Amino acid sequence: MRILVLTGAGVSAESGIPTFRGKDGYWRNLDPTKLATPEAFARDPQLVWEWYRERRKRIRNARPNAAHEAIARLAQHTDDFLLVTQNVDDLHARAGIPAQRMVQIHGDIFITRCSRCDFERYDYEQEQEKGIPKCSQCTSLMRPGVVWFGEQLSWNELQRVHDFLDCEACDVVIVAGTTATFGYIMDWALQGSRDLGELIEVNPEETPLSRFATRLVREPAAIALPRIVEGLLDSRCSRL
Ligand SMILES: [Zn+2]
Repeated sequence: MRILVLTGAGVSAESGIPTFRGKDGYWRNLDPTKLATPEAFARDPQLVWEWYRERRKRIRNARPNAAHEAIARLAQHTDDFLLVTQNVDDLHARAGIPAQRMVQIHGDIFITRCSRCDFERYDYEQEQEKGIPKCSQCTSLMRPGVVWFGEQLSWNELQRVHDFLDCEACDVVIVAGTTATFGYIMDWALQGSRDLGELIEVNPEETPLSRFATRLVREPAAIALPRIVEGLLDSRCSRL
């Protein structure tokens, strides 16, 4: 089987990582959709770093939930598999998805990269730094390695998604915990499930993608995905 899984903030929210939208996402009364922008960083890099350090800490203290584990299990048992996640945390990786089977389309929160040159480093451990990190190569300000609102997606990561989609249609596409707000998520889901592939949407609420889904599961991902994955693995065994 060839399977594409697309995940969003809803999957991490069930591990206690607040989403950007809704009240929980607010930090010091600030709207995250305004903090996660190049403009906010240009205006107050210290503030933006404080927010990202708190988010990093929260993610380090969180654990993968049953949805992350179910997706990792599906990846282990599927030869042709790609996970595209909008989440910048490492919960999918910690559940056991290898890097080559996953694209973090909005970046990785634990990468600190230069705002000017190509230098970047992985900052997983509790950073001692309090101020704004400076690049060791060119002394420019360093920033979190995530894609902010209004920024382009990474060309390399986009290419990995397109390579997977161009190659062949999928038997199954699962879209979980995302409202498909970004047009490209919807495009990939539809492109992946062309040629009559199954398109499963897991979301407690209706989304713009719902009308295209062949199966709608109106439940939180951590409840629904273990069952869906079991079903897919069983049906494959019975087909053999
Ligand atoms: Zn630099």
